[in-house]
Amino acid sequence: MRAIQVKQAGGSFELVEIPTPTPDSGQVLIKVIACGICGGDELCRSGMFPGMTYPRIPGHEAVGVITALGDQVGAAWAVGQRVGVGWHAGRCDNSEACEHCRRGNFFVCTKATGTGLTLHGGLAEYMVADQTALVAIPDTLDFIQAAGLLCAGLTVFNAIRLSSIRPGDTLAVSGIGGLGHLALQFGRKFGYRVVAISSSSAKRSDCLNKFGAHIFIDTTTEDVPARLAELRPKLILGTSVDAKSITDLTPTWPSNAQLLILSEPPTVVLEIPYIPLLFNRNAIAGFTAGTAADAEDALRAAELVGVMVDTETYPLERAEEAFSTIREARYRRVVVL
Ligand SMILES: [Zn+2]
Ligand SMILES: [Zn+2]
Repeated sequence: MRAIQVKQAGGSFELVEIPTPTPDSGQVLIKVIACGICGGDELCRSGMFPGMTYPRIPGHEAVGVITALGDQVGAAWAVGQRVGVGWHAGRCDNSEACEHCRRGNFFVCTKATGTGLTLHGGLAEYMVADQTALVAIPDTLDFIQAAGLLCAGLTVFNAIRLSSIRPGDTLAVSGIGGLGHLALQFGRKFGYRVVAISSSSAKRSDCLNKFGAHIFIDTTTEDVPARLAELRPKLILGTSVDAKSITDLTPTWPSNAQLLILSEPPTVVLEIPYIPLLFNRNAIAGFTAGTAADAEDALRAAELVGVMVDTETYPLERAEEAFSTIREARYRRVVVL
């Protein structure tokens, strides 16, 4: 099969021909139809993810069709079924569950593996996946849309629904790219006052007219801390990777407000004024993705309320270009096989 490989830490996305894998017990073989390209793929290229070995096939937003079943695959999965695989590449089985799985915290399973990190990902014609990682994709949902929702869509959907924000509250989204454009749409449809914060004035019209933001703050011309002190967001989603834009999000919020950092800025050190955090009981936390079941909820919610991923598509042989210029992506890039 044709596949993209990173051959060593710091390597690029190389197109190679390698044998098609066969599914082990508890795994399925998937013919990949599409796979999203994500800033998170940097963890595969850089080798910063603990326990990585090479060569590795990246890609953690894969969708396709099951073409073969290994032994011990449950009745929920069948050849021909439309499925996806996100970051969460599976968890231990019930017979030897780790402490996290025993308590139902499957996402932090100590045996959990990362798609495209410790297991091969979806930038290939075929991939194998553990049945505990499989996301059922509704027949009504387009494959490219599903790929675009499996990481960014799931992350913002889960971050919002697990926070304490309630309809009528204000949701601020900093950085309007892959994550941000989906957060604005979910936020609008879920009934919040939605504030887009961006350094790109060219995105103002999309934010206000296409993605549903009520208010646009241009960081190049406006005083972000002052605007946020006036707008009093209950939840801020930080998708930018530079320290200043995150520090700018930490002025005076209403009590019990949260800032969730959703991207992976590996080398950024934050300086946070902590007195407001103490007296307002505010919180700053990291957040990412979710389990296969969470992903199914995110796909269903996106269909129900009409969230659309804005995608640019690339063929497999241009995956390196799609990733290396990702900072120039408008919103989301998806490789179509
Ligand atoms: Zn991702
Ligand atoms: Zn576990």
